Amino acid sequence: MSQKLVIRNIGLLLSGKMEAPILEADCLIAVDGKISAIGYEKDMDGEGATSVINAHGVTLAPGLIDSHVHPVIGDYTPRQQQINWIDSTLHGGVTTMISAGEVHLPGRPKDVVGLKALAIASQRWYENFRPSGMKVLAGAPILEEGMVEADFKDLADAGVKLLGEVGLGTVKDGKTARQMVDWARKYGIQSTIHTGGPSVPGSSLIDADMVLETGTDVIGHINGGHSALPDDQIMCLCESCTAGLEIVHNGNQRAAMLTLNTARELKQMDRIILGTDGPAGSGVQPLGILRMVAMLSSLGDIPAEIAFCFANGNTSRQRELDTGLIEVGYAADFVLMDQAQHAPGKNILESVELGNLPGIGMTIIDGVVTSHRSRNTPPATRIPEVVL
Ligand SMILES: [Zn+2]
Repeated sequence: MSQKLVIRNIGLLLSGKMEAPILEADCLIAVDGKISAIGYEKDMDGEGATSVINAHGVTLAPGLIDSHVHPVIGDYTPRQQQINWIDSTLHGGVTTMISAGEVHLPGRPKDVVGLKALAIASQRWYENFRPSGMKVLAGAPILEEGMVEADFKDLADAGVKLLGEVGLGTVKDGKTARQMVDWARKYGIQSTIHTGGPSVPGSSLIDADMVLETGTDVIGHINGGHSALPDDQIMCLCESCTAGLEIVHNGNQRAAMLTLNTARELKQMDRIILGTDGPAGSGVQPLGILRMVAMLSSLGDIPAEIAFCFANGNTSRQRELDTGLIEVGYAADFVLMDQAQHAPGKNILESVELGNLPGIGMTIIDGVVTSHRSRNTPPATRIPEVVL
């Protein structure tokens, strides 16, 4: 029997699309985990619902996407010896995480056959096990010297779709990196690069010339992770290519504002996507994506409904995902949120524009409720209710 979810009484429906961030609708229907209808309840067919949620006037948005995480296995990270960091992040409204490399695995293999085996295994274990329901797109190999074209074909044939951050392995020169990124792209594997100063002892600087020569699909943490490039190099990166401009919580927030302002001047804010880079030296950041939305909106003078697109729709389009947009056929992955109790502002959007986090009341992944009132955000004023 098919599963039919009806969410009614939605107060504000955010689409994830910068060109039309707010939808005229109060109801959404999903069948078997995919969005099937969006509109006004009075015009829609709610017959045969197997699950009904009364949103009680709160805001529904596509589940947030963290474009840059470093998972290892299950809901455990050795980086800060933490368990349940993914569950905590779900409570921050994130429903999909994208690995930029499983680099924190103790004893990570660096020989070619070993790194391929790790990438394939990581892709599998997160496909087979979703911590608390979270979609973790993982299995992102780190480029090491000695890899040949056949290795990228093997990886793609085995289901690997991402490269880890270029520059974290032994490939440190633009020419070799470019060749490998081109092979990856030929077999449908997306790429990203570590931009900026070294993250931890043993890693190294990657400057704008190396980023441009390598030509990855995404400019990983353009605001540094942790140390940013000089301003002129960040502006040069924005102006000289069309790659995704990934801003992370674990980077330099002044450089984040510079990236935002440069992209706005170029009229290319659709390139901006958000990540945390967690777990990292600065810890895990369960509310990192929400905090970036509030920071960019408030300090960057960006309407909140647009800032949310940086955290879902833009990433969906940049990464070619089936989640992150409110559109028929897309995954029914949602975050339901409301203005936080006693936060200033006349509504949720204004409170975010004033720099405040919203309160999360529920997350839904593939049409199934995965969390209720967040244990991490400030409490939402109103909370959605499962009525069937
Ligand atoms: Zn990095």
